[in-house]
Amino acid sequence: MKKRLLSGIQPSGAMHLGNYFGAIKQFVDLQNDYDSFVFIADLHAITTIHNKEELSKNTLDVALDYLACGLDPLKVCLFKQSDVTEVTELAWYFNCITTMPYLERATAYKDAHMKIKEVNVGLFDYPILMAADILIYDSEIVPVGQDQKQHVEYARDIAQKFNNIFGETFIIPKALIMKEVSVVPGIDGKKMSKSYKNTIPLFGTDEKIKKAVMKIVTDSKGTDEPKDPETCNIFKLHKLFLGKDELDRLQDKYKKGGLSYKESKEMLYKEILDLIKPMRERREMYAKDIDKVRDILNNGARRARIEALKKINIIRDKVGVKI
Ligand code: ATP
Ligand code: MG
Repeated sequence: MKKRLLSGIQPSGAMHLGNYFGAIKQFVDLQNDYDSFVFIADLHAITTIHNKEELSKNTLDVALDYLACGLDPLKVCLFKQSDVTEVTELAWYFNCITTMPYLERATAYKDAHMKIKEVNVGLFDYPILMAADILIYDSEIVPVGQDQKQHVEYARDIAQKFNNIFGETFIIPKALIMKEVSVVPGIDGKKMSKSYKNTIPLFGTDEKIKKAVMKIVTDSKGTDEPKDPETCNIFKLHKLFLGKDELDRLQDKYKKGGLSYKESKEMLYKEILDLIKPMRERREMYAKDIDKVRDILNNGARRARIEALKKINIIRDKVGVKI
């Protein structure tokens, strides 16, 4: 029997290179080896998006992005988080065994709290809903970027706590983080994030992608000056695309001088276009048949709900709400 893999992405804005290399690429690479559940975290996105059109458009976009990147709906259970309402029920049980100081220690919450003084309860509770997503499907492996590592640890802690209180119920999941792509930098050098507005979009127009690439922040070294590849944000992104030999050659050019940052950016732009060319074609094909995409999500939801219902029945019994 294959192990269960689960992960999701929020429809909180346009998919970017960080999402692709940090997450989706792993889902695609692992789809033959795991019993994969991949969802669109639309309930999580409501922590930041309060606009019907925006949320529903973004949600279909993530579905298209998944399919474009190569997720095969015959191998992967693709669904929308909100179609499995049992998850929100489980989140409530978890709320009742989790303390506020424990959630206050979450880095993502602390960051949000620094920026917005009055964080909504949903954002505060983000790790609980995520724990419910992971645990309700008995997931063993959760491929994510480094930024989600702590949240997977929360899911592990919560599973253990529930097991201790109510008896053995949940499998303790493990995060799967690919070291080389764990934090893809944005154009400002910080972690690339939809919410930081520092992204290079995966499926933007050529112009949008070029504009973002050309805005990557560098130091002010001139063409002929030797440059340090390890501290260069453009070079860090080249690493995602180039093989060892090409990377070594580029590194030499950086160290010798003679290559301008502009040229390096133009090379990167081309690498991005080469990567996404076949994905764009697949995306356009699915975009012409949105009903088919809806069918894929509905079929996925049906399968996910069967699993979730089985599990929630056991949980209801353990908690004592079943009489
Ligand atoms: P938001 O800013 O709304 O939180 P995000 O850009 O961080 O959006 P998420 O939907 O939160 O994207 O994350 C989806 C997946 O992509 C997660 O597994 C996350 O770890 C991964 N991921 C996001 N940004 C990066 C990045 N810069 N490098 C590597 N992985 C990333
Ligand atoms: Mg995020």
